[in-house]
Amino acid sequence: MANLYQFPTSAWAGTAGYTVCVAVTGASPALLLERAEGLLAGQSFLELRLDSVPDPQLVPPLLGPLLQRHPQARLIATCRRTEAGGGFAGSVADELAVLTAAAQAGCGIIDLALESAEAMRLDQHRSLREALRGAGTLLLVSHHDYRKTRDLDYTLLRLSRHQPDLVKLVTTATGLSDNLAILRLLAERRQPPMVAIAMGEAGIVSRVLGVRAGALFTFASSGEGEQTAPGQVTAATLRELYRIGELHAATRVYGVAGQPVAHSLSPLLHNTGFRASGVDAVFLPLPAHSVDDLWQLVRELPIYGLSVTMPLKQAILARLDRVDALAAKVGACNTVVRQANGELHGYNTDVAGVTAPLAKRLDLKGARILVRGAGGAARAAVFGLREAGAEVWIENRTPAKAAALAAEAGAHLAGLGEACSREAGSNRAGMIFDAMVNATPSGMQGPAALSGMQEHSSTDAVLPSGEPLPAKLVFDMVYRPLETPLIAQARAQGLPVITGDEMFVHQGARQFELWTGQPAPEDEMRRAVLGAL
Ligand code: NAP
Repeated sequence: MANLYQFPTSAWAGTAGYTVCVAVTGASPALLLERAEGLLAGQSFLELRLDSVPDPQLVPPLLGPLLQRHPQARLIATCRRTEAGGGFAGSVADELAVLTAAAQAGCGIIDLALESAEAMRLDQHRSLREALRGAGTLLLVSHHDYRKTRDLDYTLLRLSRHQPDLVKLVTTATGLSDNLAILRLLAERRQPPMVAIAMGEAGIVSRVLGVRAGALFTFASSGEGEQTAPGQVTAATLRELYRIGELHAATRVYGVAGQPVAHSLSPLLHNTGFRASGVDAVFLPLPAHSVDDLWQLVRELPIYGLSVTMPLKQAILARLDRVDALAAKVGACNTVVRQANGELHGYNTDVAGVTAPLAKRLDLKGARILVRGAGGAARAAVFGLREAGAEVWIENRTPAKAAALAAEAGAHLAGLGEACSREAGSNRAGMIFDAMVNATPSGMQGPAALSGMQEHSSTDAVLPSGEPLPAKLVFDMVYRPLETPLIAQARAQGLPVITGDEMFVHQGARQFELWTGQPAPEDEMRRAVLGAL
Protein backbone atom coordinates (compact mmCIF):
# COMPACT_ATOMS: atom_id res chain seq x y z
CA MET A 1 0.00 0.00 0.00
CA ALA A 2 1.32 3.41 -0.93
CA ASN A 3 2.44 5.49 2.00
CA LEU A 4 -0.36 7.92 2.64
CA TYR A 5 2.08 10.40 4.11
CA GLN A 6 4.80 10.44 1.48
CA PHE A 7 6.04 13.97 2.01
CA PRO A 8 6.96 15.25 -1.45
CA THR A 9 10.70 14.83 -1.91
CA SER A 10 10.80 18.17 -3.68
CA ALA A 11 9.27 19.84 -0.63
CA TRP A 12 11.20 22.77 0.72
CA ALA A 13 9.59 22.80 4.18
CA GLY A 14 12.11 21.89 6.86
CA THR A 15 15.12 22.51 4.62
CA ALA A 16 17.78 25.08 5.47
CA GLY A 17 16.25 28.55 5.60
CA TYR A 18 12.77 27.14 6.09
CA THR A 19 12.82 25.89 9.68
CA VAL A 20 11.51 29.08 11.31
CA CYS A 21 8.18 30.34 10.05
CA VAL A 22 7.34 33.91 11.04
CA ALA A 23 3.67 34.61 11.66
CA VAL A 24 2.33 37.84 10.18
CA THR A 25 -0.93 39.63 10.94
CA GLY A 26 -2.44 42.83 9.57
CA ALA A 27 -5.48 44.96 10.22
CA SER A 28 -6.16 45.20 6.46
CA PRO A 29 -4.99 43.37 3.30
CA ALA A 30 -2.68 46.27 2.47
CA LEU A 31 -1.15 46.31 5.94
CA LEU A 32 -0.70 42.54 5.95
CA LEU A 33 1.05 42.69 2.58
CA GLU A 34 3.18 45.64 3.64
CA ARG A 35 4.37 43.80 6.73
CA ALA A 36 5.02 40.61 4.76
CA GLU A 37 7.01 42.58 2.19
CA GLY A 38 9.11 44.15 4.95
CA LEU A 39 9.79 40.80 6.60
CA LEU A 40 10.75 39.11 3.34
CA ALA A 41 13.84 41.31 3.25
CA GLY A 42 15.22 39.26 6.17
CA GLN A 43 13.47 35.87 6.01
CA SER A 44 11.90 33.58 3.51
CA PHE A 45 9.24 31.69 5.39
CA LEU A 46 6.06 33.43 6.53
CA GLU A 47 2.65 32.41 7.79
CA LEU A 48 0.03 34.88 6.58
CA ARG A 49 -2.70 35.01 9.19
CA LEU A 50 -5.49 35.86 6.78
CA ASP A 51 -7.93 35.56 9.69
CA SER A 52 -6.44 38.72 11.20
CA VAL A 53 -7.79 40.68 8.21
CA PRO A 54 -11.48 41.67 8.22
CA ASP A 55 -11.91 40.70 4.55
CA PRO A 56 -9.40 37.89 3.93
CA GLN A 57 -10.75 37.07 0.45
CA LEU A 58 -9.09 40.32 -0.73
CA VAL A 59 -5.60 39.05 0.11
CA PRO A 60 -4.97 36.19 -2.39
CA PRO A 61 -5.18 38.43 -5.51
CA LEU A 62 -2.35 40.51 -4.01
CA LEU A 63 -0.01 37.57 -3.43
CA GLY A 64 1.14 36.95 -7.03
CA PRO A 65 3.13 40.20 -7.35
CA LEU A 66 4.59 39.71 -3.85
CA LEU A 67 5.86 36.25 -4.76
CA GLN A 68 7.26 37.54 -8.05
CA ARG A 69 9.28 40.14 -6.16
CA HIS A 70 10.47 37.49 -3.65
CA PRO A 71 10.95 34.20 -5.51
CA GLN A 72 12.65 32.60 -2.50
CA ALA A 73 9.58 33.27 -0.33
CA ARG A 74 7.46 30.39 0.93
CA LEU A 75 4.08 31.22 2.42
CA ILE A 76 1.61 29.41 4.65
CA ALA A 77 -1.95 30.71 4.35
CA THR A 78 -4.09 30.40 7.49
CA CYS A 79 -7.67 31.55 7.83
CA ARG A 80 -8.66 29.96 11.14
CA ARG A 81 -12.30 30.30 12.09
CA THR A 82 -13.37 31.51 15.53
CA GLU A 83 -14.54 27.95 16.36
CA ALA A 84 -10.93 26.83 16.09
CA GLY A 85 -9.53 29.78 18.05
CA GLY A 86 -8.85 32.06 15.04
CA GLY A 87 -10.29 35.39 14.01
CA PHE A 88 -12.33 34.45 10.91
CA ALA A 89 -16.09 34.64 11.42
CA GLY A 90 -17.04 32.97 8.08
CA SER A 91 -18.27 29.43 7.37
CA VAL A 92 -16.22 26.35 6.52
CA ALA A 93 -17.05 26.95 2.83
CA ASP A 94 -15.78 30.54 3.15
CA GLU A 95 -12.55 29.32 4.76
CA LEU A 96 -12.06 26.78 1.98
CA ALA A 97 -12.64 29.43 -0.68
CA VAL A 98 -10.01 31.75 0.84
CA LEU A 99 -7.48 28.93 1.31
CA THR A 100 -8.02 27.57 -2.21
CA ALA A 101 -7.51 31.04 -3.68
CA ALA A 102 -4.36 31.47 -1.57
CA ALA A 103 -3.01 28.14 -2.87
CA GLN A 104 -3.74 29.17 -6.46
CA ALA A 105 -1.97 32.47 -5.82
CA GLY A 106 1.20 30.59 -4.89
CA CYS A 107 1.11 29.79 -1.16
CA GLY A 108 3.17 26.67 -0.58
CA ILE A 109 1.11 25.41 2.35
CA ILE A 110 -2.44 26.01 3.47
CA ASP A 111 -3.36 25.46 7.12
CA LEU A 112 -6.79 23.91 7.53
CA ALA A 113 -8.09 23.66 11.11
CA LEU A 114 -9.09 20.17 12.23
CA GLU A 115 -12.50 21.53 13.24
CA SER A 116 -13.07 22.58 9.61
CA ALA A 117 -11.63 19.40 8.16
CA GLU A 118 -14.04 17.38 10.30
CA ALA A 119 -16.98 19.56 9.23
CA MET A 120 -16.22 19.32 5.49
CA ARG A 121 -18.34 17.26 3.13
CA LEU A 122 -16.65 14.61 1.03
CA ASP A 123 -17.07 16.63 -2.17
CA GLN A 124 -15.49 19.69 -0.51
CA HIS A 125 -12.59 17.55 0.58
CA ARG A 126 -12.18 16.17 -2.92
CA SER A 127 -12.24 19.53 -4.68
CA LEU A 128 -9.82 21.04 -2.14
CA ARG A 129 -7.40 18.15 -2.75
CA GLU A 130 -7.70 18.62 -6.50
CA ALA A 131 -7.08 22.36 -6.29
CA LEU A 132 -4.05 21.85 -4.07
CA ARG A 133 -2.61 19.23 -6.39
CA GLY A 134 -3.04 21.59 -9.32
CA ALA A 135 -1.33 24.43 -7.43
CA GLY A 136 1.47 22.26 -5.98
CA THR A 137 0.41 23.29 -2.48
CA LEU A 138 0.76 21.15 0.65
CA LEU A 139 -2.19 20.55 2.97
CA LEU A 140 -1.43 21.11 6.64
CA VAL A 141 -4.18 20.11 9.06
CA SER A 142 -3.85 21.75 12.47
CA HIS A 143 -5.25 21.45 15.95
CA HIS A 144 -4.87 23.91 18.83
CA ASP A 145 -5.63 23.07 22.45
CA TYR A 146 -5.74 26.38 24.30
CA ARG A 147 -5.93 24.78 27.74
CA LYS A 148 -3.76 21.73 28.16
CA THR A 149 -1.33 19.20 26.71
CA ARG A 150 -3.31 15.98 26.54
CA ASP A 151 -4.55 13.17 24.26
CA LEU A 152 -1.73 13.70 21.78
CA ASP A 153 -1.99 10.28 20.13
CA TYR A 154 -5.75 10.60 19.72
CA THR A 155 -5.44 14.12 18.27
CA LEU A 156 -2.76 12.90 15.89
CA LEU A 157 -5.07 10.13 14.77
CA ARG A 158 -7.86 12.64 14.11
CA LEU A 159 -5.50 14.89 12.15
CA SER A 160 -4.15 11.99 10.11
CA ARG A 161 -7.60 10.92 8.92
CA HIS A 162 -7.73 13.89 6.53
CA GLN A 163 -4.78 12.74 4.44
CA PRO A 164 -2.66 15.77 5.24
CA ASP A 165 0.79 16.33 3.76
CA LEU A 166 1.78 17.55 7.19
CA VAL A 167 0.10 18.17 10.54
CA LYS A 168 0.42 20.81 13.20
CA LEU A 169 -0.39 19.86 16.74
CA VAL A 170 -0.38 22.74 19.20
CA THR A 171 -1.13 22.38 22.89
CA THR A 172 -0.79 24.54 25.98
CA ALA A 173 1.93 23.79 28.51
CA THR A 174 0.65 23.95 32.08
CA GLY A 175 4.08 22.89 33.33
CA LEU A 176 7.59 22.22 32.07
CA SER A 177 6.99 18.47 31.86
CA ASP A 178 4.42 19.05 29.08
CA ASN A 179 7.38 19.80 26.82
CA LEU A 180 8.48 16.20 27.27
CA ALA A 181 5.19 14.91 25.84
CA ILE A 182 5.62 17.11 22.76
CA LEU A 183 9.27 16.22 22.22
CA ARG A 184 8.55 12.51 22.71
CA LEU A 185 5.76 12.67 20.13
CA LEU A 186 8.07 14.39 17.64
CA ALA A 187 10.85 11.88 18.19
CA GLU A 188 8.68 8.78 18.07
CA ARG A 189 6.09 9.58 15.38
CA ARG A 190 7.80 10.66 12.19
CA GLN A 191 4.72 10.24 9.98
CA PRO A 192 2.91 12.31 8.96
CA PRO A 193 5.54 15.07 8.92
CA MET A 194 4.72 17.22 11.87
CA VAL A 195 5.02 20.52 13.66
CA ALA A 196 4.29 20.22 17.38
CA ILE A 197 4.51 23.01 19.92
CA ALA A 198 3.31 23.65 23.46
CA MET A 199 2.09 27.23 23.83
CA GLY A 200 2.51 29.33 26.95
CA GLU A 201 5.58 30.51 28.82
CA ALA A 202 6.41 26.98 30.03
CA GLY A 203 6.35 25.69 26.44
CA ILE A 204 9.57 27.48 25.47
CA VAL A 205 11.49 24.16 25.52
CA SER A 206 9.26 22.75 22.76
CA ARG A 207 9.67 25.91 20.69
CA VAL A 208 13.47 25.81 20.84
CA LEU A 209 14.06 22.05 20.80
CA GLY A 210 11.14 20.92 18.60
CA VAL A 211 13.03 21.02 15.31
CA ARG A 212 15.92 19.09 16.85
CA ALA A 213 13.43 16.48 18.05
CA GLY A 214 11.97 16.02 14.56
CA ALA A 215 9.54 18.87 13.86
CA LEU A 216 9.57 19.99 10.25
CA PHE A 217 9.74 23.62 11.35
CA THR A 218 8.59 25.91 14.14
CA PHE A 219 6.75 29.21 14.42
CA ALA A 220 8.05 32.55 15.66
CA SER A 221 6.87 36.13 15.93
CA SER A 222 8.31 38.94 13.87
CA GLY A 223 9.13 41.04 16.94
CA GLU A 224 8.28 41.80 20.56
CA GLY A 225 4.56 42.48 20.94
CA GLU A 226 3.79 40.76 17.60
CA GLN A 227 3.07 37.29 19.03
CA THR A 228 0.23 35.36 17.40
CA ALA A 229 0.23 32.69 20.11
CA PRO A 230 1.01 32.69 23.84
CA GLY A 231 4.67 32.08 24.58
CA GLN A 232 5.78 32.63 20.97
CA VAL A 233 9.33 33.97 20.82
CA THR A 234 10.73 36.22 18.17
CA ALA A 235 12.52 34.78 15.14
CA ALA A 236 15.62 36.77 16.09
CA THR A 237 15.60 35.25 19.59
CA LEU A 238 15.27 31.73 18.19
CA ARG A 239 18.07 32.24 15.70
CA GLU A 240 20.50 34.50 17.54
CA LEU A 241 20.03 33.78 21.24
CA TYR A 242 19.14 30.07 21.07
CA ARG A 243 20.93 29.38 17.76
CA ILE A 244 18.13 27.05 16.67
CA GLY A 245 19.90 26.29 13.39
CA GLU A 246 22.87 24.77 15.19
CA LEU A 247 21.10 22.56 17.74
CA HIS A 248 21.52 18.83 17.27
CA ALA A 249 21.13 15.65 19.31
CA ALA A 250 24.36 16.13 21.26
CA THR A 251 23.76 19.81 22.11
CA ARG A 252 23.57 20.03 25.91
CA VAL A 253 20.62 21.86 27.43
CA TYR A 254 20.97 24.16 30.46
CA GLY A 255 18.52 26.59 31.98
CA VAL A 256 17.53 29.08 34.63
CA ALA A 257 14.81 27.61 36.83
CA GLY A 258 12.49 29.65 39.02
CA GLN A 259 9.50 31.92 38.77
CA PRO A 260 9.40 34.35 37.13
CA VAL A 261 12.28 33.91 34.72
CA ALA A 262 10.80 35.44 31.57
CA HIS A 263 12.92 38.59 31.97
CA SER A 264 15.98 36.88 33.40
CA LEU A 265 19.29 37.94 31.87
CA SER A 266 20.75 34.47 32.50
CA PRO A 267 19.88 33.13 29.01
CA LEU A 268 21.70 36.08 27.46
CA LEU A 269 24.66 35.68 29.84
CA HIS A 270 25.11 31.95 29.29
CA ASN A 271 24.23 31.66 25.62
CA THR A 272 26.78 34.43 25.02
CA GLY A 273 29.31 32.43 27.04
CA PHE A 274 28.59 29.18 25.18
CA ARG A 275 28.85 30.86 21.82
CA ALA A 276 32.05 32.74 22.65
CA SER A 277 33.72 29.57 23.94
CA GLY A 278 32.42 27.28 21.20
CA VAL A 279 30.54 25.14 23.73
CA ASP A 280 27.86 22.99 22.09
CA ALA A 281 25.07 23.97 24.48
CA VAL A 282 21.92 26.06 24.75
CA PHE A 283 20.52 27.82 27.81
CA LEU A 284 16.76 28.30 28.26
CA PRO A 285 14.43 30.04 30.72
CA LEU A 286 12.60 27.33 32.67
CA PRO A 287 9.58 28.80 34.47
CA ALA A 288 9.05 26.23 37.22
CA HIS A 289 5.95 26.19 39.37
CA SER A 290 7.16 23.23 41.39
CA VAL A 291 10.34 21.26 41.93
CA ASP A 292 8.49 18.05 40.95
CA ASP A 293 7.61 19.46 37.53
CA LEU A 294 11.12 20.85 37.01
CA TRP A 295 12.75 17.63 38.13
CA GLN A 296 10.86 15.55 35.59
CA LEU A 297 12.29 17.74 32.82
CA VAL A 298 15.76 17.73 34.35
CA ARG A 299 15.81 13.93 34.56
CA GLU A 300 14.17 13.07 31.24
CA LEU A 301 15.38 15.70 28.75
CA PRO A 302 18.05 15.65 30.31
CA ILE A 303 19.18 19.05 31.58
CA TYR A 304 22.96 19.27 32.10
CA GLY A 305 22.97 22.20 34.48
CA LEU A 306 20.70 24.68 36.18
CA SER A 307 20.99 28.20 37.40
CA VAL A 308 18.46 28.19 40.24
CA THR A 309 16.65 31.32 41.27
CA MET A 310 13.72 32.41 43.46
CA PRO A 311 11.78 30.64 44.88
CA LEU A 312 13.61 27.31 44.42
CA LYS A 313 17.05 27.89 45.92
CA GLN A 314 16.17 26.11 49.17
CA ALA A 315 13.56 23.64 47.92
CA ILE A 316 15.94 22.12 45.39
CA LEU A 317 18.47 21.02 48.02
CA ALA A 318 16.48 17.92 48.93
CA ARG A 319 16.55 16.65 45.31
CA LEU A 320 20.29 16.78 44.83
CA ASP A 321 22.58 13.76 45.03
CA ARG A 322 25.24 15.90 46.67
CA VAL A 323 25.43 19.46 47.99
CA ASP A 324 28.84 21.06 48.42
CA ALA A 325 29.79 22.21 51.91
CA LEU A 326 29.41 25.95 51.26
CA ALA A 327 25.97 25.61 49.65
CA ALA A 328 24.92 23.40 52.58
CA LYS A 329 26.12 26.00 55.06
CA VAL A 330 24.35 28.83 53.22
CA GLY A 331 21.26 26.62 52.99
CA ALA A 332 20.70 27.57 49.34
CA CYS A 333 21.80 26.24 45.95
CA ASN A 334 21.93 28.46 42.86
CA THR A 335 23.84 26.04 40.62
CA VAL A 336 23.12 22.43 39.67
CA VAL A 337 25.67 20.40 37.73
CA ARG A 338 25.00 17.03 36.11
CA GLN A 339 27.98 14.75 36.64
CA ALA A 340 29.22 12.20 34.11
CA ASN A 341 27.47 9.46 36.13
CA GLY A 342 24.16 11.34 35.95
CA GLU A 343 24.23 12.53 39.56
CA LEU A 344 23.06 16.08 40.18
CA HIS A 345 25.31 18.12 42.46
CA GLY A 346 24.51 21.52 43.98
CA TYR A 347 26.72 24.57 44.50
CA ASN A 348 26.32 28.21 45.49
CA THR A 349 28.13 30.68 43.25
CA ASP A 350 26.31 33.68 44.75
CA VAL A 351 28.93 33.43 47.50
CA ALA A 352 31.78 34.04 45.06
CA GLY A 353 29.59 36.66 43.37
CA VAL A 354 29.72 38.70 46.58
CA THR A 355 33.19 37.95 47.87
CA ALA A 356 35.20 38.18 44.63
CA PRO A 357 34.22 41.78 43.72
CA LEU A 358 34.89 42.86 47.32
CA ALA A 359 38.19 40.96 47.54
CA LYS A 360 39.37 42.82 44.43
CA ARG A 361 39.02 46.10 46.35
CA LEU A 362 39.87 45.29 49.96
CA ASP A 363 41.49 42.65 52.11
CA LEU A 364 38.56 40.69 53.47
CA LYS A 365 40.50 39.22 56.37
CA GLY A 366 39.51 41.31 59.36
CA ALA A 367 37.45 43.72 57.22
CA ARG A 368 34.30 45.06 58.90
CA ILE A 369 31.31 44.67 56.63
CA LEU A 370 27.67 45.59 57.03
CA VAL A 371 25.19 43.34 55.21
CA ARG A 372 21.62 44.50 54.78
CA GLY A 373 19.00 41.82 54.46
CA ALA A 374 18.65 38.33 55.84
CA GLY A 375 17.24 36.46 52.83
CA GLY A 376 18.95 34.07 50.42
CA ALA A 377 21.41 36.55 48.92
CA ALA A 378 22.28 37.96 52.35
CA ARG A 379 22.99 34.44 53.60
CA ALA A 380 25.41 33.86 50.71
CA ALA A 381 27.11 37.18 51.54
CA VAL A 382 27.31 36.61 55.28
CA PHE A 383 28.64 33.04 55.14
CA GLY A 384 31.03 33.85 52.28
CA LEU A 385 32.42 36.89 54.06
CA ARG A 386 32.78 35.04 57.34
CA GLU A 387 34.57 32.24 55.52
CA ALA A 388 36.97 34.86 54.06
CA GLY A 389 37.75 36.13 57.57
CA ALA A 390 35.62 39.30 57.60
CA GLU A 391 33.69 40.55 60.61
CA VAL A 392 30.09 40.94 59.60
CA TRP A 393 27.21 43.01 60.93
CA ILE A 394 23.69 42.26 59.74
CA GLU A 395 20.68 44.54 59.64
CA ASN A 396 17.28 43.62 58.33
CA ARG A 397 13.72 44.91 58.12
CA THR A 398 12.64 41.99 60.30
CA PRO A 399 15.21 42.08 63.09
CA ALA A 400 14.46 38.55 64.34
CA LYS A 401 15.68 37.11 61.03
CA ALA A 402 18.87 39.14 61.25
CA ALA A 403 19.40 37.89 64.79
CA ALA A 404 18.93 34.25 63.75
CA LEU A 405 21.37 34.61 60.83
CA ALA A 406 23.91 36.44 62.98
CA ALA A 407 23.81 33.64 65.54
CA GLU A 408 24.12 30.96 62.86
CA ALA A 409 27.05 32.60 61.05
CA GLY A 410 28.94 34.06 64.00
CA ALA A 411 28.12 37.61 62.89
CA HIS A 412 26.97 40.70 64.80
CA LEU A 413 23.55 42.23 64.82
CA ALA A 414 23.25 45.80 63.61
CA GLY A 415 20.15 47.96 63.93
CA LEU A 416 18.12 49.49 61.12
CA GLY A 417 17.06 52.93 62.26
CA GLU A 418 15.54 53.78 65.58
CA ALA A 419 12.71 51.28 65.62
CA CYS A 420 15.11 48.41 65.17
CA SER A 421 17.51 49.81 67.73
CA ARG A 422 14.74 49.75 70.30
CA GLU A 423 13.56 46.28 69.28
CA ALA A 424 16.75 44.40 68.67
CA GLY A 425 19.48 46.60 70.02
CA SER A 426 21.92 48.22 67.68
CA ASN A 427 25.61 47.81 68.27
CA ARG A 428 26.86 49.67 65.21
CA ALA A 429 26.28 53.21 66.43
CA GLY A 430 28.95 55.50 65.07
CA MET A 431 30.82 52.77 63.18
CA ILE A 432 32.16 53.32 59.68
CA PHE A 433 32.33 49.97 57.90
CA ASP A 434 34.94 48.99 55.35
CA ALA A 435 32.04 48.07 53.07
CA MET A 436 28.28 47.78 53.12
CA VAL A 437 26.37 45.28 51.00
CA ASN A 438 22.71 45.71 50.11
CA ALA A 439 21.13 42.26 49.80
CA THR A 440 17.54 43.50 49.76
CA PRO A 441 15.44 44.38 46.71
CA SER A 442 15.15 47.94 47.91
CA GLY A 443 15.81 50.24 44.95
CA MET A 444 14.86 47.60 42.42
CA GLN A 445 13.15 48.92 39.32
CA GLY A 446 9.48 48.26 38.81
CA PRO A 447 7.32 45.88 40.74
CA ALA A 448 8.44 42.48 41.87
CA ALA A 449 8.01 41.28 38.29
CA LEU A 450 11.71 41.06 37.71
CA SER A 451 12.54 38.96 40.70
CA GLY A 452 9.33 37.44 41.97
CA MET A 453 9.35 39.21 45.26
CA GLN A 454 5.74 40.25 45.28
CA GLU A 455 5.73 42.11 48.54
CA HIS A 456 8.64 44.36 47.76
CA SER A 457 8.34 47.86 46.52
CA SER A 458 11.19 49.79 45.02
CA THR A 459 10.26 52.84 47.02
CA ASP A 460 10.79 51.31 50.47
CA ALA A 461 13.75 52.90 52.09
CA VAL A 462 16.52 50.81 53.62
CA LEU A 463 18.13 53.65 55.50
CA PRO A 464 16.42 56.53 57.21
CA SER A 465 16.75 59.22 54.55
CA GLY A 466 19.33 61.95 54.95
CA GLU A 467 21.74 59.82 56.99
CA PRO A 468 25.23 59.59 55.48
CA LEU A 469 26.16 56.06 54.49
CA PRO A 470 28.26 54.46 57.23
CA ALA A 471 30.78 52.78 54.90
CA LYS A 472 33.91 53.38 52.81
CA LEU A 473 32.61 51.26 49.91
CA VAL A 474 29.04 50.50 48.82
CA PHE A 475 27.95 47.30 47.07
CA ASP A 476 24.36 47.03 45.84
CA MET A 477 23.28 43.59 44.60
CA VAL A 478 20.33 45.11 42.72
CA TYR A 479 21.16 45.52 39.02
CA ARG A 480 17.88 46.78 37.61
CA PRO A 481 18.55 49.68 37.47
CA LEU A 482 22.34 49.73 37.68
CA GLU A 483 22.15 53.17 39.24
CA THR A 484 20.00 52.49 42.33
CA PRO A 485 19.19 55.26 44.83
CA LEU A 486 21.76 53.67 47.16
CA ILE A 487 24.48 53.73 44.48
CA ALA A 488 23.54 57.32 43.61
CA GLN A 489 23.77 58.33 47.26
CA ALA A 490 27.15 56.61 47.60
CA ARG A 491 28.47 58.36 44.49
CA ALA A 492 27.16 61.68 45.81
CA GLN A 493 29.17 61.06 48.98
CA GLY A 494 32.24 60.33 46.85
CA LEU A 495 32.34 56.64 47.84
CA PRO A 496 33.53 53.87 45.53
CA VAL A 497 30.73 51.51 44.47
CA ILE A 498 30.13 47.97 43.22
CA THR A 499 26.98 47.63 41.13
CA GLY A 500 24.84 44.48 40.93
CA ASP A 501 25.90 43.54 37.40
CA GLU A 502 29.38 42.71 38.66
CA MET A 503 27.95 40.11 41.05
CA PHE A 504 25.57 38.82 38.39
CA VAL A 505 28.32 38.28 35.83
CA HIS A 506 30.70 36.83 38.40
CA GLN A 507 28.26 34.28 39.83
CA GLY A 508 27.30 33.33 36.26
CA ALA A 509 30.91 32.95 35.17
CA ARG A 510 31.54 30.54 38.05
CA GLN A 511 28.46 28.58 36.98
CA PHE A 512 29.80 28.40 33.45
CA GLU A 513 33.08 26.99 34.79
CA LEU A 514 31.32 24.39 36.93
CA TRP A 515 29.27 23.25 33.93
CA THR A 516 31.95 23.24 31.25
CA GLY A 517 35.26 22.86 33.11
CA GLN A 518 36.56 25.76 30.98
CA PRO A 519 37.38 29.35 31.93
CA ALA A 520 34.37 31.60 31.34
CA PRO A 521 34.62 34.26 28.61
CA GLU A 522 33.79 36.85 31.24
CA ASP A 523 34.43 39.94 29.12
CA GLU A 524 31.97 38.84 26.41
CA MET A 525 29.42 37.82 29.05
CA ARG A 526 29.73 41.19 30.81
CA ARG A 527 29.44 43.13 27.56
CA ALA A 528 26.22 41.29 26.64
CA VAL A 529 24.66 41.94 30.06
CA LEU A 530 25.64 45.60 30.14
CA GLY A 531 24.28 46.00 26.62
CA ALA A 532 20.93 44.62 27.75
CA LEU A 533 20.84 46.72 30.91
P1 NAP B 1 14.90 37.25 49.64
O1 NAP B 1 15.43 35.92 50.06
O2 NAP B 1 13.47 37.43 49.38
O3 NAP B 1 15.30 38.28 50.81
C1 NAP B 1 14.95 39.63 50.73
C2 NAP B 1 15.52 40.38 51.93
O4 NAP B 1 15.31 41.77 51.74
C3 NAP B 1 14.86 40.03 53.23
O5 NAP B 1 15.82 40.14 54.26
C4 NAP B 1 13.80 41.14 53.37
O6 NAP B 1 13.48 41.48 54.70
C5 NAP B 1 14.49 42.30 52.78
N1 NAP B 1 13.60 43.29 52.17
C6 NAP B 1 12.66 43.04 51.27
N2 NAP B 1 12.09 44.18 50.85
C7 NAP B 1 12.69 45.17 51.54
C8 NAP B 1 12.52 46.57 51.57
N3 NAP B 1 11.67 47.14 50.75
N4 NAP B 1 13.29 47.29 52.40
C9 NAP B 1 14.18 46.69 53.20
N5 NAP B 1 14.37 45.36 53.22
C10 NAP B 1 13.63 44.61 52.38
O7 NAP B 1 15.66 37.79 48.35
P2 NAP B 1 17.18 37.47 47.90
O8 NAP B 1 17.25 36.31 47.02
O9 NAP B 1 18.01 37.49 49.13
O10 NAP B 1 17.50 38.74 46.97
C11 NAP B 1 17.69 40.03 47.52
C12 NAP B 1 18.12 40.99 46.41
O11 NAP B 1 19.37 40.65 45.91
C13 NAP B 1 17.18 41.02 45.21
O12 NAP B 1 17.00 42.32 44.76
C14 NAP B 1 17.90 40.22 44.18
O13 NAP B 1 17.54 40.60 42.86
C15 NAP B 1 19.33 40.60 44.50
N6 NAP B 1 20.26 39.57 44.03
C16 NAP B 1 21.17 39.95 43.10
C17 NAP B 1 22.08 39.03 42.64
C18 NAP B 1 23.08 39.44 41.60
O14 NAP B 1 23.65 38.57 40.94
N7 NAP B 1 23.35 40.73 41.45
C19 NAP B 1 22.07 37.70 43.11
C20 NAP B 1 21.13 37.34 44.09
C21 NAP B 1 20.24 38.31 44.55
P3 NAP B 1 12.46 40.64 55.59
O15 NAP B 1 13.28 39.57 56.22
O16 NAP B 1 11.94 41.63 56.53
O17 NAP B 1 11.42 40.10 54.65
